Amino acid sequence: MESTDVHADLKHVLKTKEEIQNRIAELAAEIDRDYEGRDLLIVGVLKGAVMVMADLARALHSHVTMDWMAVSSYGSGTQSSGVVRILKDLDTDLMGKHVLIVEDIIDSGLTLSWLKTNLESRGTASVEICTAFRKPDAAKVSINVKYVGFDIPNEFVVGYGLDYAEKYRNLDFVGTLAPHVYE
Ligand code: 5GP
Ligand code: MG
Ligand code: MG
Repeated sequence: MESTDVHADLKHVLKTKEEIQNRIAELAAEIDRDYEGRDLLIVGVLKGAVMVMADLARALHSHVTMDWMAVSSYGSGTQSSGVVRILKDLDTDLMGKHVLIVEDIIDSGLTLSWLKTNLESRGTASVEICTAFRKPDAAKVSINVKYVGFDIPNEFVVGYGLDYAEKYRNLDFVGTLAPHVYE
């Protein structure tokens, strides 16, 4: 029978609930300062960014509006190709808007690089990026990420919106999977 204890599926905890919440509060304070006196639209990339969007939005003191996009990156296997298809577009007209893209994790950075260019082509006043987690490979792509929660090692992680086969998104912490889960 399949285990119902999610903790039994994890090898170790990388960032605890408390560490994540403290860091989100710090990022929110920075964003409040940087966008003072301006209207900000935060754009969450489904589905992984659901947790960070919800926590970041509640930690911000400024007025923000929220919208969502879903994209799928063409490519073989686990390699992101940088060729992106929009599955769900924004409802918001971006003309003259200050936009902050909110992501769960940046690995190759190819999807995000495409997304930033795409949003900029819609007449935005500015487009910046906030990610909860960033892996070392992201450094290979010249993409400026203004707000980074945590730089993490090159390991596959789950929790806090991040999935393995759609599971573990609901964890309030981030950890690595035990080998028995994927072997
Ligand atoms: P990339 O930056 O390579 O274009 O794609 C990033 C996307 O790959 C993330 O939004 C996420 O969906 C997925 N991804 C990258 N690294 C991880 C990881 O360690 N764990 C999980 N669950 N997803 C990851
Ligand atoms: Mg994502
Ligand atoms: Mg996934």
